[in-house]
Amino acid sequence: MVIGTIADTLSRGVGNVSDTLSETFFEPVIRLGVTGLSRAGKTVFITSLVANLLDRGRMPQLAAEAEARILAAYLQPQPDDTVPRFDYETHLAALTARTPHWPESTRAVSELRLSLKVRPTGMLAGLQGPRTLHLDIVDYPGEWLLDLSLLEQSFEAWTDATLKRLPQRPGAEPFLALIGGVDPNEEFSEPKAKALAASFTEALNIAREAGFSDCTPGRFLLPGEKEGSPALTFAPLPKPEDPARRGLWREMERRFEAYKSQIVKPFFRDHFSRIDRQIVLVDALGAIHAGPQALEDLRRTMAGILGAFRPGPNAWLTQLLRGRRVEKILFAATKADHLHHSQHGRLTAIMEALTREARDRARFAGAETSAMSMAALRATVEQTLPHEGRELDCVRGTLLNPDGSRGRQAAFYPGALPEDPTHLLTPAREGAEQWLGDDYEIMRFAPAPLTLKPGEGPPHIRLDRAAQFLFGDRL
Ligand code: GDP
Repeated sequence: MVIGTIADTLSRGVGNVSDTLSETFFEPVIRLGVTGLSRAGKTVFITSLVANLLDRGRMPQLAAEAEARILAAYLQPQPDDTVPRFDYETHLAALTARTPHWPESTRAVSELRLSLKVRPTGMLAGLQGPRTLHLDIVDYPGEWLLDLSLLEQSFEAWTDATLKRLPQRPGAEPFLALIGGVDPNEEFSEPKAKALAASFTEALNIAREAGFSDCTPGRFLLPGEKEGSPALTFAPLPKPEDPARRGLWREMERRFEAYKSQIVKPFFRDHFSRIDRQIVLVDALGAIHAGPQALEDLRRTMAGILGAFRPGPNAWLTQLLRGRRVEKILFAATKADHLHHSQHGRLTAIMEALTREARDRARFAGAETSAMSMAALRATVEQTLPHEGRELDCVRGTLLNPDGSRGRQAAFYPGALPEDPTHLLTPAREGAEQWLGDDYEIMRFAPAPLTLKPGEGPPHIRLDRAAQFLFGDRL
C-alpha cells in the first residue's frame, strides 16, 4: 500500500525503486519488448507466443517446459492502467477462425501480462514452493525507436537530411513540387501546414510500400492517438535567410521541437526505459524481395534502431536510463515458413550479417544478443518437387490475393538464398539497382485452418527457441 502511494507521487526514478522492491519481496517481473518495423510480424508473434505459453505442447525447446516445471500459465490484468491492452483474444480468434485471417497489425504501443507458476530448479527445488513470474509483453512500433535520432537534430539539420533522401525514393515528387512553391516566410496558416504534412506523409507511405525502412518521423506512419495534433502536423521546409516571427518556417520548427519533447521523449521515458529483454522482428525476406536498395536501407535502419540500445552518444537517453540496460536482444527474421528448412540457415546468416554492426554495438553495451530465423505462425508445409531435371525444395500453402481474400493452394519456390550473405549485402551497399542473376520472390500466404489437439498452441518454427533465449533463464 505505502509503496503504491509513494510511487504515485514521485518521478520515474523512484518508480524504479518500487519496481525493484516488488521484485525482491514479491514476484519477479520481466518486461519483454517486442518491436520491428510495420508488418514485420509483431502482432502475429505476440499472439502465437501467448497461445503457445498457455498451451505448451509445441514448446519443447523451452527448458522449463521440457523439465515439466511450468505448473500453470494465465493472463492477468497488466500493471499499467493507461496503456492499451494487447488485444490477444481478438487476434487469436482471427487466426483460429474456421476460415482464418491475419489479425490487424500493430498501430501503437500496447501491453499484456502473462503469469507463469514455476517450480524452482537446483538446490532450492526441495526447499521452496512454486514461484510466480510475470511476463509483461510490450508491443511497440520500431518506427518509434528511429525517432531517437531526431532528438539530436535541429529542424534545419533534419530538413536538410530529409530533403536529400527523398528524391532517391519513389513517391516524393508531389511533395517536393509542393514545397518548391512555398515561401517559408509566408504567414503561418493551419490549412497550409496540414497540406504539407499530408503530402509529406503520403511520400513516406509510398516509400514504405516500396520497401524502404527508414521513414522518420515514426508517428507520421503510425500516429497512435495523437493523430491530427499540431505536434504531428509539420513537414521539412528549407530555412529562409531571416525567418519571420509569425512565418510558416518558425511554426514548423516549433512543432518539430514539440514532436521531440511531447511525443518522442515520453515514449522513451514511459515505455522503452523499462524494458529488460527485447526481440526485434525483421522481415528480411520482404526486403530481399524488394531489392538491393531496400535491403541496404533495412541494414542502416537496423543500426539506427539498435542505437537506442547503446545510448552512449545520446546524452538525454543515457541520463534517463541511468545505467539500466536491456539484458538480452534477439534479432529474428520472421516468416521463415516462406522457405523450406534447408534454407533457414542461410536466412539466419543473412540476419546475422544484416544486424552485425548493431549487434557488435549492443554487445559492447553489455547486452547478450543472438540472431535466428523463425515463423510465429506456420502457414505452409514443405514439399520437394521435380523441376527441369532437379529437385526443388518448395513450400505449399494457400495464397493470399492482393484484396486479402484467400486464393488457391500452390507450391512456391522463392529462389535460392546465397550461402554467403555478402553476396547480397555487398551489392546492396554498393548501390546496385537489382540483384544479379537470381530473383527472389515472395508470396503472401493465408493462415492455414488449424485443428489443435488439447494442450497444443498454433504451429510455429522456433518460437520455443526464441522464448528460451528471451526469458528461459528466468524460469
Ligand atoms: P506488425 O505490423 O509487426 O504487427 O505485423 P503483423 O504481425 O500484423 O504481420 C504482418 C503480416 O505479415 C501478416 O498479416 C502476415 O501476412 C505476415 N506474417 C506475420 N507473421 C507471419 C508468419 O509467421 N508466417 C507467415 N507466413 N506470415 C506472417
